[in-house]
Amino acid sequence: MRKLVVANWKMNPASVKEALDLFDKVKKKASTLKNVDTILAPPFAFLGELTCNYSGSKVSFASQDVFWEEGGSYTGEVSVSQIKSIGATYGIVGHSERRALGETDVDVNKKVLALIKEKVTPILCIGESSRDEHGEYLNFLQKEITEGLKSVSKNDIKRVVIAYEPIWAIGKSVRDAMKPDEMHEMKIFIQKTLSELYERSVVSKVPIIYGGSVEPDNARALLEGGEVDGFLVGHASLSVTEFNEILTIVNRA
Ligand code: PEP
Repeated sequence: MRKLVVANWKMNPASVKEALDLFDKVKKKASTLKNVDTILAPPFAFLGELTCNYSGSKVSFASQDVFWEEGGSYTGEVSVSQIKSIGATYGIVGHSERRALGETDVDVNKKVLALIKEKVTPILCIGESSRDEHGEYLNFLQKEITEGLKSVSKNDIKRVVIAYEPIWAIGKSVRDAMKPDEMHEMKIFIQKTLSELYERSVVSKVPIIYGGSVEPDNARALLEGGEVDGFLVGHASLSVTEFNEILTIVNRA
């Protein structure tokens, strides 16, 4: 399976000029890579500007969120056909920072289905806020997966990316990120949960990526020991040096 690296810029940078500058440097790097798909998720405000300035085929674009309705009186929301019309081919849904603002599993599921309907690939984020010794967090994750994927057919699941992002590891440093062996266990758990919903042959085609303080210093170990299919990168994606180094590591792995 080809590896994916998704840059979640969140609500950064502050201006379109800075966004274009960052994009330009990442674009150059991405064009040299053979084994990795680079996906940029800039804020909505810059998405159209970046896709317009892009000629070539080595970077794809994702929205950081999307609304499930096709159009109408939904002030502030953005539809799947709108992001698709400006060149996004992926949509992040269920990011923990959206869930913290009130998004439910039912909302996330509606977004997943809306993306699938338009043939835009959902990047479904799941992740527990903390862990407990009784393993209750595993039930929580199972629910996020099962409800997020409700009514997704066995044909369509192949076009979904699962991003496992433990909230306790987000926005910290390498020291606080998940360890490779723990990530490997989580990959097995996610695949087991998926195989309760879909045939095994289909489950093996679903990319499972990791997010939570991925930096150049832990990327290789997480890829090799965690056996992940790529990364969702937050803060390190705003540093050209760090992000491009992560891309190099994933490309070589
Ligand atoms: C994220 O919020 O999606 C994320 C992975 O952030 P960070 O890399 O900063 O932990």
